[in-house]
Amino acid sequence: MKIFVVNAGSSSLKYQLIDMETETVLAKGLCERIGTSGAITHKAADGRVYTADTPMPTHTEAFEAVVYAMTESPAKVIDSFDEISAIGHRIVQGGAVFSGSCLVTPKVIEQIEELGAMAPLHNPAHVLAIRACIKTFGEKIPQAVVFDTSFHQTMEPKVYMYALPYEYYEKYGIRKYGAHGTSHRFVSHRVADLEGKDIKDLKIIVCHIGNGASITAVKDGVCFDTSMGFTPLDGFMMGTRSGTIDPSALTYIAEKESMNAAAVNEMCNHRSGMLGISGVSNDNRDVCKAADEGNERAKLAVDMQRYQILKFVGSYVAAMNGVDAIAFTAGIGENDADLRSNVCANLTYLGVTIDEEKNHIRGEEVKISGSDSKVSVYVIPTNEELAIARDTLALIS
Ligand code: ADP
Repeated sequence: MKIFVVNAGSSSLKYQLIDMETETVLAKGLCERIGTSGAITHKAADGRVYTADTPMPTHTEAFEAVVYAMTESPAKVIDSFDEISAIGHRIVQGGAVFSGSCLVTPKVIEQIEELGAMAPLHNPAHVLAIRACIKTFGEKIPQAVVFDTSFHQTMEPKVYMYALPYEYYEKYGIRKYGAHGTSHRFVSHRVADLEGKDIKDLKIIVCHIGNGASITAVKDGVCFDTSMGFTPLDGFMMGTRSGTIDPSALTYIAEKESMNAAAVNEMCNHRSGMLGISGVSNDNRDVCKAADEGNERAKLAVDMQRYQILKFVGSYVAAMNGVDAIAFTAGIGENDADLRSNVCANLTYLGVTIDEEKNHIRGEEVKISGSDSKVSVYVIPTNEELAIARDTLALIS
């Protein structure tokens, strides 16, 4: 049984072909510059690579290029798409409409499209990809959609509501939705497996720290709270995103700089965070290197991000009245031993200890807490594609 996982953006399309018997990746690839020129990079698991510049005016031509790469190119991995049991799509925004993954129907496509107002960069692109898949593969391959937001649909109103006039919640659905839910779900369940316990009996904090970053509190096996909000701008500072700030600071800047709402949005999403503070880069490795070399603003950016992570972890310990396990995942969480060590050094009040030798790893699944630690601390590489493939398989079974 093979599942094809699609993560489509407006000008790009990432994909993986996963063998579900072994849960291994058979091939993965990326189509870029859809809508302008078009290029594909396709990698088979055995190391064969196929690349080509090929016109991709729409997502349909991108899928045609993928079919060629998978079935005919020198890096082919299957004879025909008939071997594929289903297609699973990553969808960024499911709003309050989707509390779980589901099979694609005309109504589902319509609903994802309607939610595009809350994710204008993502949902319209997902819909284009789903329609292109239907055009390319017909109705014979079932398609499923897996939402970044659905894991967070278990939050209670007291957690997801903003203290704004209630009418805006009613009129526009203004509330916290969260993001990275597929990753938080995957990692929290993996923590429970590694702890050898039912996830319902654990209080878990998952720190998904990449260029985009969020922290989720998992209690009774479901999401209790999460740091991202109405959009993925909320929470703690990220590569280019500000995270939570006083809205009055924004209205003040907007007035002083004659910025409209779109300009403020652009500043907070693309010119803030690690990049905005350091002036060096949004990339954690570059900022850490500059900090090590004595760049004061880079050092400030690193210190700020770690402090903000610590505050979210602490607030979720308080909100859940305790924590049994903390997990680090995503680009920075999986690779930056110094950040993990620094954050955990400030959790001694919880009885957290770190085994620095075990912590000295990158991108491996390891329990890094000391044998005397009262809280288990893990590094768990996230695997959103596998989670999407598992949901897709479950839906067609
Ligand atoms: P996203 O999926 O949100 O784009 P990723 O999860 O891929 O982000 O994480 C990217 C971040 O991970 C970058 O800031 C990068 O610098 C950081 N990163 C990757 N490898 C390392 C490493 N070895 N040490 C420190 N940071 C790393």
